[in-house]
Amino acid sequence: MSHHFHLSSSVLPLSFFPGELGARFSPAEPRHLASSVGVAAASPSRALRPHMAKAVAKEVGAQEAAQGSAALGWAARDASGVLSPFDFSRRAQKDDDVTIKVLYCGICHTDLYTIKNEWGTAMYPVVPGHEILGVVTSVGSGVSKFKAGDTVGVGYFVGSCRSCESCGNGYENYCSSMVLTSNGIDPEHGGAVTQGGFSDVMLVNEDYVVRVPDGLPLDKAAPLLCAGVTVYSPMMRFGLNAPGKHLGVVGLGGLGHVAVKFGKAFGMRVTVISTSPGKREEALERLGADEFLVSRDPEQMQAAVGTMDGILDTVSAWHPISPLFALMKPMGQMVFVGGPTKPLELPAYAIVPGGKGIAGNCVGGMRDCQAMLEFAAKHGITAEVEVIKMDYVNTALERLAKNDVRYRFVIDIAGSLGSTS
Ligand SMILES: [Zn+2]
Ligand SMILES: [Zn+2]
Repeated sequence: MSHHFHLSSSVLPLSFFPGELGARFSPAEPRHLASSVGVAAASPSRALRPHMAKAVAKEVGAQEAAQGSAALGWAARDASGVLSPFDFSRRAQKDDDVTIKVLYCGICHTDLYTIKNEWGTAMYPVVPGHEILGVVTSVGSGVSKFKAGDTVGVGYFVGSCRSCESCGNGYENYCSSMVLTSNGIDPEHGGAVTQGGFSDVMLVNEDYVVRVPDGLPLDKAAPLLCAGVTVYSPMMRFGLNAPGKHLGVVGLGGLGHVAVKFGKAFGMRVTVISTSPGKREEALERLGADEFLVSRDPEQMQAAVGTMDGILDTVSAWHPISPLFALMKPMGQMVFVGGPTKPLELPAYAIVPGGKGIAGNCVGGMRDCQAMLEFAAKHGITAEVEVIKMDYVNTALERLAKNDVRYRFVIDIAGSLGSTS
């Protein structure tokens, strides 16, 4: 239900960017770059890796790969999206880098879209994963925020330009040069293709790492790095965090269920709006929502008209939205975090008479992500997860495609990655 997606200049289909960005991400370029990642994609054994990595590095001038350390991940090699073990090299640790042993990594719908090349952007091999929770094993000499032994998280991006208006305002997530954690192009590191958290080790510039407060269970906290901040950030941005306000949450999946928890922790009245009557008990009793509306029931919807201060719509399947706007009070705020591919229909009458607002949101900046984790720790907010072993990942991805998960898969990377290859 809630397969949200993350917009960025490097994620959208090329057709979205007929101009500069389209040219920048021309189909030929990713193909070239994919071969320059400094990895031995077909390496049959880890023993061969140093030799092969050196050969690739010489070919493309990727010095960092040659000096870097061995890494093991699971990668998709083609649009089947099937993952299998993959030996590659992480870059050598730089002065401002944090080296992280990955403990857990959540599985997000964006991973599914990317590995199946549904946005036409995959640069195979792709190691997915951007809900990364781990422990620092070493830091570069210039790192001031972290030390070995710290519990840390990495989310949807690992770099940005640092100089644009968005970066200056703490919204690196809207930087046009944001570097995706997985399947991104990293200009600061030789244009290498980034590989995500379905792997044993990550190297990330310290400015794109968050501290995980004590008290959060690590497996259940991993999805907060993407799903959590995706709902928390717009709640802060639009004042949907005040006690007594009424929040609607459309869709009860990976995003929706944490939105309910944040809303309740903010002291809000929270109503879940869903097409599935069967989720009522779960929403009210397990997640603590105050009310549950079946969106296909006109009487229930009518009874709630004009009652909500804002709505977070997490649904990525096409759905009628006019009735949702009717649920909001005058000047209510709608926020879309899902991404239906077919355009939604917005008649002017749905927003003009009530002066209603409409916005999109894609994950959140580093500041919001850190604040979100601290708020979550203080209020005991975590995702509901199904923890899996690495070798179950392909089954999990199939189940995720059918929304057959309550509510997030999290891979026990440290506990199962090495043992399955
Ligand atoms: Zn995500
Ligand atoms: Zn920027």
